[in-house]
Amino acid sequence: MRFWFATPLWQRVIAALVLGILVGHLWGPGAEAIKIVGDVFVAFIKMLVVPLIFFSLVAGIASIGDLRKLGSVGWRAMLLFVVTGQIAVWLGLALGTFVQPGVGVDTSMIEMGAVPEPREADWRSMVLSMVPQSPVQVMADVNVLPLIIFSVLIGAGILMAREEGVPVLKLFDSGAVVMQKVTMVVMELTPFGVFALMAWVAGTLGFDALEALGKLVFLNYLGCFLIIGLIYGAMIKFLAKLPVGDFFRGMVDAIAVSYSTASSNATLPVTLRCAERNLGISNSVASFVISLGATINMNGTAMYLGLATLFGAQIFGVDLSWGDYFTISILATLGAVGAAGIPGAGLIMMALVFGAVGVPLETIAFVAGVDRIMDMMRTTTNVTGDAAVATTVAVMTGEIDREEMISADDV
Ligand code: ASP
Repeated sequence: MRFWFATPLWQRVIAALVLGILVGHLWGPGAEAIKIVGDVFVAFIKMLVVPLIFFSLVAGIASIGDLRKLGSVGWRAMLLFVVTGQIAVWLGLALGTFVQPGVGVDTSMIEMGAVPEPREADWRSMVLSMVPQSPVQVMADVNVLPLIIFSVLIGAGILMAREEGVPVLKLFDSGAVVMQKVTMVVMELTPFGVFALMAWVAGTLGFDALEALGKLVFLNYLGCFLIIGLIYGAMIKFLAKLPVGDFFRGMVDAIAVSYSTASSNATLPVTLRCAERNLGISNSVASFVISLGATINMNGTAMYLGLATLFGAQIFGVDLSWGDYFTISILATLGAVGAAGIPGAGLIMMALVFGAVGVPLETIAFVAGVDRIMDMMRTTTNVTGDAAVATTVAVMTGEIDREEMISADDV
C-alpha cells in the first residue's frame, strides 16, 4: 500500500496501460467482463466536467481582471486552432494520396459495422445550440460549448459588478480549489480505469479487420505522431520556447487517460490538472483555452477525416479532383469542430465529408470495427493539441509560471 502511494501517479498509470494490453491480449474477448471498471472510472471523471469548468472558468475569467486580455487570449488560441487544424487535414490528405491505404483492401475479411445516420449540418441550429438558453439544462446535458459561454458571461458580470461582485468571486475561487481537490481524489482511480479499458480493447480487437485495414490504421497513427511530434513539438520549442520534453512529461496523465477513454470531454479534468499543475499555466488561460479546445480543436480527427475520405474513394474507385480536395479540407475542419469529444464522434462526422464528395457511406461500415483503436490515438492528439495551444498562448500573454513547470517526478 505504501509502495503504491509512494510511486508517482503517472508511473502507475503507464504501468496499468501496458499491463492492461498484456492481460487483454492473453484473456481475449472475455476481457469485456472488466470493462465496467473502466466505465465507472469514466463516469467519475465525467462527473467533474461541469462543476470543474463552471467554477474554474468563472474564477479564471474574473481574475484575469481585464476583458481585453481575455480577447487577446481568445484570438491567439483561435488562430492556433485554425492553423494547426488546416495543417492536420492536409497532412491526412497527403498521407492518403501518397500511400493509398484503400488500394488492394480485401473487403471480404471485414465484418461490416453499422453506418451512423448522416447528420444535416445546419448552421442555424448549430449557432442556436451554442446559446445557453437554460443554464441548468446545459449543465444537465454536459453541453460544453454553451457552458463555456455561460461561464464567460458570469465571469464578465463579476468584473463589471466590481466591489459588489467580490463575494461571488470568492465563492467561485474557493469552488475552483475544492473541485481541484476532488479531481485529485478521482484521479487516484486512473490506473484501474486505464487498465480495464486497455484490457477490453486489446481483448476484443478484431484481428482480421485489423489486418485488412492495417495500412489505414498505420497511417492514422503515423499522422497523429507527426502532428504531436512535429507540429506541437515545433509550437512548444519555437513559439513557446520551452523544453519539449518537459511539456510531454507534464502531459503523461492526460495522454494515458485520453488514449484509454477515447474521449476529449472525459479527459478534460485531467488535461486541466496537467496544464495547471505540471505546466504552470494560469487558471484563467488553462480553463478557457482547454475547455474550448476540448470541443472545437480536434487535429487528430481533422487529419483522420481527410485520410478516411481518400481511403473510401480508393476502395470504391471514386475520382477526386483538386476542387474535391478543397471541399474535403473545409468539411473535415468543420467536422472536427462539430464533433463532440466522445468516443466515435469522428466516425459520425465521416458521413458529412463523404456525402459532399460522393464517397459511399459503406466505407464507414468497413472501418467501424477498428475505429476504436484509431479513435484512441486521435483523441490523444486532440487533447495534446489543446494543451500545446494553451501553453503557447500562456507564454505569449505572460500567464505561465516557469517555476511551476515542475518535473513530472514530483507529481
Ligand atoms: N473521440 C475523439 C475525441 O473525443 C473524437 C473523434 O472521434 O475523433 O476527441
